[in-house]
Amino acid sequence: MNFIGADSDYQSASAVLFGAPYDSTTSFRPGARFGSAAMRGESFGIETYSPALERDLEEVRVHDAGDLELPFGAPQPALDMIEAKADGILADGKIPVLLGGEHLVTLGAVRAAARRHPDLHIIHFDAHADLRDDYLGNPLSHACVMRRCHDVLGDGRIWQFGIRSGTREEFAFMRQGHVTTEPFTMMTLPQVSFPEGTPVYLTVDMDVLDPSEFPGTGTPEAGGVRYVELLAALRDVMARFNVVAFDNVELAPSLDSTGRSTALACKLLREELLSLRM
Ligand code: MN
Ligand code: MN
Repeated sequence: MNFIGADSDYQSASAVLFGAPYDSTTSFRPGARFGSAAMRGESFGIETYSPALERDLEEVRVHDAGDLELPFGAPQPALDMIEAKADGILADGKIPVLLGGEHLVTLGAVRAAARRHPDLHIIHFDAHADLRDDYLGNPLSHACVMRRCHDVLGDGRIWQFGIRSGTREEFAFMRQGHVTTEPFTMMTLPQVSFPEGTPVYLTVDMDVLDPSEFPGTGTPEAGGVRYVELLAALRDVMARFNVVAFDNVELAPSLDSTGRSTALACKLLREELLSLRM
């Protein structure tokens, strides 16, 4: 089963979906490994047409490559497989779209994108800073993923929005100027600009949303943004920046018995795909 409307063959596709059903480093409530499969299954509850964008998934060329078969436990082999998959898609001139899984999976795709695009920048939506140097001694935890991306890219390349949780050390790391962070909201996003053509990796930890709208996630954090605000921000990013790859992570469908989190994630992905420059 593919995500609704993502029925192009690989050769003719401009964007390629692939799932990374991995949640071995999730620090609180597991279940994100079922996120990508749930999105495919529930995607048939939404239309392929977006009235907001006046565009239909039938007008864009998206291929769904399914889920990777990732080894449980040690994260490095899983990250290597994600990196190899993203690298192959980038090598073919297509946009990789990674569906989590927990947020650590982003590191594999960022490594691939950074090798192809040395001046890569990251736009990061999340409730959590994810800037820990290690979590309980583990440097490859979803709580460390942006710190590991900073290891790859260096200072001034990561732009975070909606952050409302982290340690004192993580907030000090922001203030030292290693990354640029807007806490709590995303109101300053329209003021961010990069030179034309700058490659951007967009990573959406869907727990940036308020738990009232998106309870199906491992570490819900009160005080989040609304769906309509996130959607406006994503459309702004897609319209103004050269997004070379993106991901949606941290949907844990079984933690929301109402199904509204998965339904939201499906609609969000549709709007993102329809907003891509392709
Ligand atoms: Mn995160
Ligand atoms: Mn988070």
